[in-house]
Amino acid sequence: MEKTIERGEFLLAICPYCKAEINSVHVTVKEIAFTHYEVSVSEKYIGEWHETSKEVDSQELYETRCPYCQRKLPLYSEREINEFLAGSLIIAQKSEVRYTGSPHSWL
Ligand SMILES: [Zn+2]
Repeated sequence: MEKTIERGEFLLAICPYCKAEINSVHVTVKEIAFTHYEVSVSEKYIGEWHETSKEVDSQELYETRCPYCQRKLPLYSEREINEFLAGSLIIAQKSEVRYTGSPHSWL
């Protein structure tokens, strides 16, 4: 589903691996479908397959990758992808995480 972006709301998504600012991701969807074909014979070919219709039975988001470094991003739903691209979901490597609260607040 498309999300309308308000002016000033847009922040760039950053790949946690190659640090590129990205405005797209590569998504692979695993799909199970019933695909119908017409198989014909002509002067040139025997057994030429033409897809006539396709009914998707199930779809599952399989993986999401950075378009630059091709590494897998931990995004597993359309909502997470949209939030990442809008800059409201930030992916960081564990070593980059800094705690901003008081260092003694947990004692
Ligand atoms: Zn990357």
